[in-house]
This record gives sequence, structure tokens and C-alpha cells, in this order.
Amino acid sequence: MQSLWSDNEANDYPSDLDLRVYTSRLLGRDPSLVLHGGGNTSVKITEHNLIGEEEEILYVKGSGWDLATIETAGFAPVRMEHLLKLAELDQLSDPQMVNELKTHMTRADAPSPSIETILHALLPHKYVDHTHADAIVAITNNADGETRIRDIYGDRIVVIPYVMAGFDLARECARRFKAEAGPQTVGMVLLNHGIFSFGATAKESYERMISLVDEAESYLQNKCGDSAHLPGEEADLLARRLTLAELRRDISTATGRPMLLHSTGNPKGLAFARHPEVARISQQGPATPDHIIRTKRLPMLGPDVEGYVNAYRDYFETNAPNAKEPKTMLDPAPRAVLDPNLGLCTVGKTIGDAQIVADIYDHTIDVILKAEALGGYQALPAADLFDMEYWDLEQAKLRKGGSAPMFQGEVALVTGAASGIGAAAVREFLSRGAAVVGLDIDPAVTQVMTTPGYHGIVCDITDEQALRDALETAVRSYGGIDMLVLNAGIFPGGCRIDQLDTELWHKVMGVNLDANLALLRECHPLLCRAPQGGRVVVVGSKNVPAPGPGAAAYSASKAALTQLMRVAALEWGGDGIRINALHPNAVFDTGIWTEEVLAERAKHYGLTVEEYKTNNVLKVEVTSHDVAALAAEMCGPLFAKTTAAQLPVDGGNERVI
Ligand code: ZN
Repeated sequence: MQSLWSDNEANDYPSDLDLRVYTSRLLGRDPSLVLHGGGNTSVKITEHNLIGEEEEILYVKGSGWDLATIETAGFAPVRMEHLLKLAELDQLSDPQMVNELKTHMTRADAPSPSIETILHALLPHKYVDHTHADAIVAITNNADGETRIRDIYGDRIVVIPYVMAGFDLARECARRFKAEAGPQTVGMVLLNHGIFSFGATAKESYERMISLVDEAESYLQNKCGDSAHLPGEEADLLARRLTLAELRRDISTATGRPMLLHSTGNPKGLAFARHPEVARISQQGPATPDHIIRTKRLPMLGPDVEGYVNAYRDYFETNAPNAKEPKTMLDPAPRAVLDPNLGLCTVGKTIGDAQIVADIYDHTIDVILKAEALGGYQALPAADLFDMEYWDLEQAKLRKGGSAPMFQGEVALVTGAASGIGAAAVREFLSRGAAVVGLDIDPAVTQVMTTPGYHGIVCDITDEQALRDALETAVRSYGGIDMLVLNAGIFPGGCRIDQLDTELWHKVMGVNLDANLALLRECHPLLCRAPQGGRVVVVGSKNVPAPGPGAAAYSASKAALTQLMRVAALEWGGDGIRINALHPNAVFDTGIWTEEVLAERAKHYGLTVEEYKTNNVLKVEVTSHDVAALAAEMCGPLFAKTTAAQLPVDGGNERVI
């Protein structure tokens, strides 16, 4: 591990607080030091307040900020004088402490100060850096972790036994620090938790952190060599879509809400899942207690959700009676799964959550294997982990946020997603919380959205193998398919039947009809396993109830597709799948309405293009968004008891009415 400090870069950060920002970001750049909020930093600065009095302020990382991207606004300014008085109290509950921290800041709009604020205040150094470095956690999650730490650092480090973060930990650290620290002390190791460094300057404190962690890494390298690394194995996950979809359904049932299941495809995860000792080494507990909030206490081994849930209930029932206050059991479903065939899969209500679990578990594997190589991974006892998992402050964090978006934890697949109605549907389903897979032959499909909840796949839907490959990707990314929007279609220029070429006819049928048959057939087993029942929306056309001359192939294909929808409704109702159609008309912001076609159709009706665009009973223009919003509604609770319906979205059409 190397210092990333650069004098050149540091010149851009003139003040003490600016430099605090700079080295915090340097720490944030290395995920083996800080992962998803696992770490915090501070600086003590003397300032003059509004009435001219001198005050010492602790600027400490605020919650909700990531060290990698933190700015000065991300540091909470808390009055040191009050913090030091608080530290003298015999006891202070977590909610009281949070209240005291928040009410003794100098800026009302600052973020909430870190839970480790009092600890930062008590360390008598200007700059304090704290990380949950993998190497430290690997060494201290061991029966003889404390001895090993003393071997490595001697008296340069004060060692603190495990105490849950909060007031008690701050006091214990202060007590030991006072008794043991001397001029040689450069840091403090908290067993099963992480490491602190400090210094008179931002650079000194940061570089001490780097060199302390570097020593721990070298120690691991010497003791374990490469035995801590499993041989890289090709990600040979087989096509197990249905196992994944069933696993996701069962986990969603245990959670009480739909969840996404993400197959990481991580070769390390697969090798770990196949490790001969996986049942022992993976079932002890997380690497650091704060991970439990994201990962649950243990990963699930294999696809036995019921067994996992029962074990979680036992863990709750054993530990809850000893808790200070009554506790309500969290959902008992796992967040990480280790399966010898599926590798490492992670669970979240959003793909972001599932990816955080994946990142954390990836580091956990390193920590476990290194600790094993040292003689045996040993996590904290279940009771300590329970206290963390059911800690009021963490529970409050979990409860934060209003009601969940309509489709959170669900997956929609949209065809023809690169433009027009399809692209609008991608945005609409994403905005309602779904993860979305978009298919299109147009490479622009990959760029429709750039959030992790969207996966655009270039795919010719008339190629059945390409369709199956796309479903494979969808299921590995998100765990299944709940909703299907059959939107892809082509509309060749007007052509009367006496001129209609058979090849063109087949081409239109191939895209507008045959491809949808294949997609419905291939998706059916996935839709059957959707946690809340499968839903399909067919994008039909006004041409179904009211065909126009010159559009024989298009009208016939959409009419046949509508009839296919009606038969599917009959056949699949028993599987809990509902399928409905909407019939748009005159939606001009779509791929098929080129200026040429538009002008040609307007002329055909003897109208200007403008008149043609609003040529309906309500005299309104129908947009892609209008159609996409209706498609989303058709998948939502409003249509929960409707199947085989056909709804116009056309501003009112006299021939349809
Ligand atoms: Zn910490």
C-alpha cells in the first residue's frame, strides 16, 4: 500500500479543512481501506465565532457523505468544549448522544456528525483518520488477533478490545489511550473493527494510516503467502435461469416484498462457494460488525431459503430476550448467497443495494481467507452481532425514507427500447423503481439510461438464440423478469395489397408477431416465478380496431399479436400472469415515424402535418410518454384484476369509438 499524497495536488487545498478534504478523498480512493461508509476522518480547528469569541471546532465526517467524494460541506462542525464535557459523563444513550452532537454544531444545515465523533474529539491530535482496513480486520478476526497486532506494532499502537461503536467505545478508547499512549504512539487498533491514525498535519496522519496498514498487509503476505488466494476460476456459471428465478421468488417471499437477486459472476465468489471448508468458514459472522446491516449475519449456503429463515428466527429468539429494549424481528431473508453452481449472489431492493452487498462480501472473502491462513477466522459472538444488527440507530437508518416506489425490487423487460415508446417505457419503469432491461437492434439501446438499474442489450429479437442470451443476462443481472413490454415493431411505408411483396410481409410478421411469440414462450417460466405475478403489456395499434389502407402487413401483424395476447390471457391466467394490450395512434416521437412517412400519411388524409398530429376527438397530441405511462399503469395495482383488456391511447378516434 502506497501513499497517494502529492504536493502538487495538495497545493490546491490551502486551508486546514481543505487538506482534511484532500486526504479523506485519498483514503476513499482505496476500497480495501474504506468500503461504503466504513471509515471517518476529522480535524480540530480554532475559529472565532460571530461575537468574536475563540472556539475550538471538531470538523468530523458527516453521515451520508462518502470519503472518496467528500467536500468541506460534508464535515459537521461540532464544538469541542461540549464534546469533552460529554466524554466525562458516566453514561449517555445513543439517541441522547446523537441529539447532543446535532445540537452543538455551529452550522444548522450541516450533516449529522459521525457516531464516532466523541472518540475523534478525545484523541489529542489535530488530524484523526479512521478506516476499517481489510488487512487489520483479517488479523483481528482471529483467536489470537490481539497478540498478532502487538507483534506487528509493539507500543506504537494502543489496542482496544471490541466494544460496539458509540459512547462506551469512545470512553474505553479514551481510558486506554490515557494509560498506554506515549510519544511513540501513532495509532490505535480496535479489534474486530478497524484502525485510527493521527498527526499534527493532514499529511502526517494520512501517511501514518498508509504505513500502518501497509505493515499489516506485509505481515499477512509473509504469514499466508498466496495461500490466501484461491486459484482464479473462469466464471462458469451455467444457464440456471429458473433456479435463480425460484431463489429470488423464495427470498422475496421471506422478505415480504419483491427483491432483486444479482449474480455477481465473480470468479472469487464462485471459488469460495466451492471451497471445501465453506460451511465452516462462511458461517461465523461478518468481517466487521457494521457490515451486518447490509449483509445480515451470515450468507446463505445453497438455495435453502426455508432453512436459512429458520436459523435466523432461532438467532433472533436466542438474542432478543437479552436486549435492553423489546425488538421486532427484521425480515429473516438472506442478503448474500453462496452456491457451488451459482457462485456469489447478492440481494437488495435496488441493484445499488445488491451491489454494495457484493462489494462488501468480496472483501469479506479476502478477510476470511487471510484470517484462515493465519490459523483460523473467528468472528464476534452472535450476541455482539445481534446488538449491532438491532442497534436503534441502525434501525432508524433502515426505516428512513417514505413509501417505496411502485415497482421497487421488480424487473421489466422492454423491447424496441432504443427510441420512442420503448425508450419512454424504460424511463417510466425506472422512475417507478423497477430494474429495466432494454432490447433493441439499434446500438443506441445501451445508452438510453446510464443508471445501474438499467441494462441495454443490442439484440435482434427475430433471432431466438439472441433472445435467450438476453434473458440470461437479465436474470443474472436482476434475478428474473416480472414485467414484459412487447413494444418492438416495424412499419414499412404505405403499400397496397396488390403491390405487397411476400418478403416484406414476412419481414413485418417476423418482427411484429413471430418474435413476440418466441419472447412470450421463453419468458413464460420466468413470469410464472415473478414474486408478485407476471405482467405483460402488448403495444398494439389503432390499426387493430380501425385498419387503414396501405398498411396491410402492419395491421394484420398487430391484429394477430392482439389475438395472441387474448389466447395467452386464457392460458396463463392460472399462472397468475396478466396480459393486456394498449392501442396507440399517431404517436409521432417514435422510431417508425420518419418525416417522410409522416408527410406521406398527412397527405393521404389531405391534412397538414400539424393537423394530422392532433387529428383526434380530443384534439391532443399523443406522446411516447403518454403510452409508456399507461403501459406502467397496466403493470401496476390499478390493473391487478384486469387481463386481456385492450385500451386505446389515441386522443379518441371516431372510427374506434
Ligand atoms: Zn469505525
